[in-house]
Amino acid sequence: MWTPSKIESRNATLDLSVSAQGHCTIRQLVCDDVVVCNAADFIDWSARAVQFELCEACLVAGCGGGGRVAIRRFGDRVLIIPDFSTMIQGDWETTEDAPPRWMKKQGPLSFSPSSWSVFHSACVGSPSFDSISPASTAEVLRLYHFMAPRSFLPDHLSPSLAKWDLILCTNGHDSEIDLVHLRRLFSDPSTFGGHEFCTPQPDSYTVSAFLDLSTVTEWPIFSSDPDPAVILSDDIHFRVKLNG
Ligand SMILES: [Zn+2]
Repeated sequence: MWTPSKIESRNATLDLSVSAQGHCTIRQLVCDDVVVCNAADFIDWSARAVQFELCEACLVAGCGGGGRVAIRRFGDRVLIIPDFSTMIQGDWETTEDAPPRWMKKQGPLSFSPSSWSVFHSACVGSPSFDSISPASTAEVLRLYHFMAPRSFLPDHLSPSLAKWDLILCTNGHDSEIDLVHLRRLFSDPSTFGGHEFCTPQPDSYTVSAFLDLSTVTEWPIFSSDPDPAVILSDDIHFRVKLNG
């Protein structure tokens, strides 16, 4: 997850002559010097999948494909994540509702309540902390899949196509048990009955899987607790519950 240390807005000038609007001054929302919203005042915050990256020739929502996000609460964090529930509806939605380009490089955004209030003040119309819906269990699992190495899971929306043969071992107490747990986390997200935040035990450590790529690649997967805590970032952990 990307936890920005600097959040600011900047003015920029766009040439909209292609759409007969002349030059236009817009406000960008910038996190750690990366443009997150390219025209903050033109965002339709009431849309189902909010478009953070607008077409720079016309600034009309929906003109360009992609650039879309879901805004969710996870404990006391505000997360900007791909709009998974829309993307899974079909091939067209997967492309049209794809996340912004910055998310593929920097990762999904995670804001503390105070950093979200900076964002909220800079983006008129953005939701207040209290009005943001909590992430569903399927969304937190799909976020975990999104953050897995693409060499292991080439299509983050299809966890059944994970390349299990690439995993050499884990550094947990028992690699076989770790892999049983990991396979469970990559089963259909609808088979889970819920999730909860948690904090790993103080004496636990981060278990990694090791992938057999051109150089062996370490992938942190969960905590070493008997009931492992899934790690989204240093300060975001969760456990899932099975149905029934
Ligand atoms: Zn356009």
